[in-house]
Amino acid sequence: MFPYKKVTNLSDITVTTLKGIGEETANSLHAMGIFSVEDLLMHFPYRYEDYRLRDISEVKHEEKITVEGKVHGEPSLMYFGKKKSRLTFRFFVGRFLVKAVCFNRPYYKNKLSINDTITITGKWDQHRQTITVMEIHFGPFLKESEVEPVYSVKGNITVKQMRKFITNALNAYGDQLDSSLPLSLLQKYKLPLKSDSVKALHNPVNQDVLKHARRYFVYEEFLLFQLKIQALRKYKREQTVGLVHHFSKDALDQFIHTLPFPLTGAQERVLGEIIGDLTSPFRMNRLLQGDVGSGKTVVAAISLYAAHLSGYQGALMVPTEILAEQHAQSLTGLFEKTPVNIELLTSSVKGKRRKELLERLQQGEIDILVGTHALIQQEVNFLKLGLVITDEQHRFGVEQRRVLREKGSNPDVLFMTATPIPRTLAITAFGEMDVSIIDEMPAGRKAIETYWAKHQMIDRVLGFVEKELQKGRQAYVICPLIEESEKLDVQNAIDVHDMLTHYYRGKWKIGLMHGRLSSDEKEKVMEAFSENDVQLLVSTTVVEVGVNVPNATMMVIYDAERFGLSQLHQLRGRVGRGSEQSYCILLADPKSEVGKERMKIMTETNDGFVLSEKDLELRGPGDFFGRKQSGVPEFKVADMVHDYRALEVARQDAHELLYSQRFWEDEEYKGLREMIEKSGILDGDKLD
Ligand code: ADP
Ligand code: MG
Repeated sequence: MFPYKKVTNLSDITVTTLKGIGEETANSLHAMGIFSVEDLLMHFPYRYEDYRLRDISEVKHEEKITVEGKVHGEPSLMYFGKKKSRLTFRFFVGRFLVKAVCFNRPYYKNKLSINDTITITGKWDQHRQTITVMEIHFGPFLKESEVEPVYSVKGNITVKQMRKFITNALNAYGDQLDSSLPLSLLQKYKLPLKSDSVKALHNPVNQDVLKHARRYFVYEEFLLFQLKIQALRKYKREQTVGLVHHFSKDALDQFIHTLPFPLTGAQERVLGEIIGDLTSPFRMNRLLQGDVGSGKTVVAAISLYAAHLSGYQGALMVPTEILAEQHAQSLTGLFEKTPVNIELLTSSVKGKRRKELLERLQQGEIDILVGTHALIQQEVNFLKLGLVITDEQHRFGVEQRRVLREKGSNPDVLFMTATPIPRTLAITAFGEMDVSIIDEMPAGRKAIETYWAKHQMIDRVLGFVEKELQKGRQAYVICPLIEESEKLDVQNAIDVHDMLTHYYRGKWKIGLMHGRLSSDEKEKVMEAFSENDVQLLVSTTVVEVGVNVPNATMMVIYDAERFGLSQLHQLRGRVGRGSEQSYCILLADPKSEVGKERMKIMTETNDGFVLSEKDLELRGPGDFFGRKQSGVPEFKVADMVHDYRALEVARQDAHELLYSQRFWEDEEYKGLREMIEKSGILDGDKLD
């Protein structure tokens, strides 16, 4: 049991107690955030120098290799100028005769004699059968230095010194490292002890041992992290008094039966989760994720109806006016056979109409209010706000969401997003929220066929578009920017509009939509498009969210390489909304490999979650939201993208633990409990 009996607390022992670390060195270490022996032991290598011998016939061009060989020919030395020199010699690696080139180390010449056995590390030039030498060890290959750790260092400290400090620390204290994980979890996942894992990460005997050691830390880091955020969530849930919605399930079912279609399994599942929240005394704080077209609006409508049945008002907040109008329209349709009263509030509702509307809201005569951020203005007062739903949640700031939430007395809050956030990020960045996912499309949906075309193929593309228009369908043409910018070489919507008007010579009505239009103008254009008075709509990305014109079956996206995968997917989601086959053509001449890869992926899948995972892989978690998102943690060993399975396991384990009695009582979880207490989560200062 000794690894669990703390002999000493290694975080209390300063680095200066170690051999070879004096005042000055300690200061350099402090600058790197290394104060205690524990800090030093947790300073892991960021890579390993691999000196393992390899068969030269398997080494690729320009790869780094280490080989053992016998010197074959007399070395020859050439000088260029005073300091520059080149030493060349031939040597046998097994039966291969290869050449070694060694720059600016003339003194090596005297150390080399024919038939000597030497070990060379360097870069392999396959075409010239030559190694450019980085290092020569004058003797046979040494097994113990197969793999050497490489550490980040600062100040005067060298990597070599760092290796020594860490070796000293390992020798003196390595066995005293406590596993924060209880034995039961180590056994469950067959994880090595922390002390062994630390040793292995610094000095891996082989790849297997290294992998095993990584597993320990990946799990430990993820579990600690999940315990923290989930403890915070649990605490918030228990501390904030929410509404308990009381309503008749039969009445709700009756409403669901009036819908023109049966719910998908996924819709039913998330609805169950939402209703669970509504009827519980905890305040709902839930993120609903579902790909474009997965049917979130219906789920929102049913939830709002449930709140209505329990005598509360509801609010639906969306980022754009177009979207607000569309939502108000579809809700009005869905609630047609009910007495529910829906109103729309945007900045274009003005004067007397606005005043009236606000009064009715305050009197409780409006059941559901749909709108943009106009909803969170001070003058907007509900009589009894019980449920707030926001669509496209990440477009609203945290502050805006808070203001909206405070408009009632702790209303339940549901955030909807069509931007599929990779599961990994959803359970980390949005860790304090519960997450529901609609991962199933309504039946009968045809997959959108996506093609990637170079700009020079524009004639063929426009011919294809015309064929669809001739069938009575409509099309979008999307352009990245509205302003001419030579530097970016981006097509602007106005130019494209002119070009297409010219190209189709009045055969079709072509509309133009961009962010510079007033909301009245935008509304007119959208209306004309949805009534099929306009067949082809040239637009910037303002059509991105929510627009629903099922007869539009074709989308052409100019300069597609300028968009992220998730955004392309969002845009593409404007088509494929009806029963006809839809198409999306990406016009792009990407220069980089990543750019080409992205276009290819788009043509291969319609699954938003797959795309978002890919996006994450290609861009990294820090960039995923376009800016560094606070809350996306940095791990020492774990990697959210590649270790996401472990993250999922840790998430479930953390949940199970936090809601179990043994976790809060048993001795073996003491370390984990202390860690949660230490983080200050339970002090309440992290509550918003
Ligand atoms: P989202 O907001 O998730 O992008 P919507 O709620 O706008 O998707 O739904 C897209 C379309 O699918 C709408 O026309 C809607 O009426 C329809 N729809 C939603 N749920 C279902 C279902 N269960 N079966 C068939 N069609 C559905
Ligand atoms: Mg929607």
